[in-house]
Amino acid sequence: MDQVTGVVVGAGVVGLAVARALQINLGGEWLVLEQENAIGTQTSSRNSEVIHAGIYYPKGSLKAQMCVQGKKMLYNYLK
Ligand SMILES: Cc1cc2nc3c(=O)[nH]c(=O)nc-3n(C[C@H](O)[C@H](O)[C@H](O)COP(=O)(O)OP(=O)(O)OC[C@H]3O[C@@H](n4cnc5c(N)ncnc54)[C@H](O)[C@@H]3O)c2cc1C
Repeated sequence: MDQVTGVVVGAGVVGLAVARALQINLGGEWLVLEQENAIGTQTSSRNSEVIHAGIYYPKGSLKAQMCVQGKKMLYNYLK
């Protein structure tokens, strides 16, 4: 473990997804560092399990666009 390709700090849903994407796209060994004893114990463990459709954000805003794109990507991933 003295040499790795890179390090991702934080094993919430974002850090784990980023590390997975880096591993798949770049290969190598990616280390995820987490301050707690287990993955996903902070904000990621407390969400409402809603897949946001972007309707709460102003039409055309970056947040709305990301919600719509992310929703499509998530459904494709789950298939
Ligand atoms: C009440 C609530 C409801 C929600 N409902 C939804 C929902 O229905 N749908 C939805 O899509 N989103 C929802 N969200 C938002 C969603 O949960 C968050 O956007 C998401 O979980 C954030 O993930 P994250 O990986 O960025 O953060 P986190 O899950 O907080 O992960 C960050 C990790 O980094 C670690 N860390 C921080 N600093 C360090 C350090 N220096 N060294 C090592 N480790 C460190 C922390 O311990 C933590 O484990 C909700 C949020 C809340 C609070």
